[in-house]
Amino acid sequence: MSTQVMELETLPIVIEKVKESKLSKIDFNNLPFGKTFSDHMMVCEYYDGKWQSAKIQPYGNISISPACNVFHYGQAVFEGMKAYYKEDESGIVLFRPEENWKRLNKSAVRMSMPQVPEELFMEGIKQLIELDKAFIPAQEGSSLYIRPFIIGTEPFIGVRTSDRYLFCIIIGPTGPYYGEPISVLVYDTFIRATKGGYGNAKAAGNYAGTLYPVEQAKKLGYKDVLWLDGEHKKYANEVGTMNIFFVIDGKLITPETDGTILEGITRDSVIKIAKDFGYTVEERPISIDEIVDAHDSGKLTEMFGVGTAAVINPINRFGYKGKDYLLDENKFVIAQQLKKELVSIQKCIIEDRFGWVVEV
Ligand SMILES: *Cc1c(COP(=O)(O)O)cnc(C)c1O
Repeated sequence: MSTQVMELETLPIVIEKVKESKLSKIDFNNLPFGKTFSDHMMVCEYYDGKWQSAKIQPYGNISISPACNVFHYGQAVFEGMKAYYKEDESGIVLFRPEENWKRLNKSAVRMSMPQVPEELFMEGIKQLIELDKAFIPAQEGSSLYIRPFIIGTEPFIGVRTSDRYLFCIIIGPTGPYYGEPISVLVYDTFIRATKGGYGNAKAAGNYAGTLYPVEQAKKLGYKDVLWLDGEHKKYANEVGTMNIFFVIDGKLITPETDGTILEGITRDSVIKIAKDFGYTVEERPISIDEIVDAHDSGKLTEMFGVGTAAVINPINRFGYKGKDYLLDENKFVIAQQLKKELVSIQKCIIEDRFGWVVEV
């Protein structure tokens, strides 16, 4: 990734507070994912070749031209992260936020968008959390979800790189995510990414294209889709919007990051924890035939998706070419063990031996 030299005129962030907080209207015991937002958001515009001064203002609608690139050609990238109260409630922590900043910029470069300075990203998140910390749920398993994103906002409907952008951060409380085992459909038709494309960018277009196949899978009784590679429609790629792991013969196998796979921070953390526990982790192509064979011979004991929202989500059934394959939930041991360890590090219940947790 090339690092552009940028003048920093974005800081300090100007703050305009809400007149009346909506905190008292929120039911913290009933929080669906992604529907509740805090009192404030951060906005920063990019024009004349640089990021302008950042502002924290009341959360609300934004006004942009209907001709903006984002509406027509989808210049949009985003991130997803969480803030938690430490177990002993002595502070608020983020999990590997620098990785999110780096990935946002990597996605931005791929979509021909300007990179965001680290200070703007970190200060924006920290100051927003500081201001709206009353929105962080204390309930077990709950957290504050953070959604930074950049969109192309030049009012011009020609197909080319926009010369105006908006960097925005919105945050909101989310309830516990229990991660019940899910069923998935393996398509040999639809794909989510292919080599030379941008499956490794957290770019809006990657998601729009998956909505229809996922809806079709739901109609057939599956919760989500296990995507295969674009070229051969043979190798496991990702599951839903999570990275995928298989446990075969006690070994962990996950597809290597070949440009078609989103380089998940949870994926990387799970690999490091698993190796630390002494498990063998193989990052390599794994074909659906190998998965089916391992299932039939009883060697496939676990399949799970990993990502910020669910952390680790087991898969108990997959459908492929009209046949269903079941997994025995009593054998979902490694997923449980890894999830417990990761969550314990994230919430500072155990020592952070990897140096991943950052205090706000
Ligand atoms: C965000 C995302 C992931 C998970 O990444 P994390 O950094 O672990 O949250 C995996 N796959 C896709 C397609 C994603 O968008």
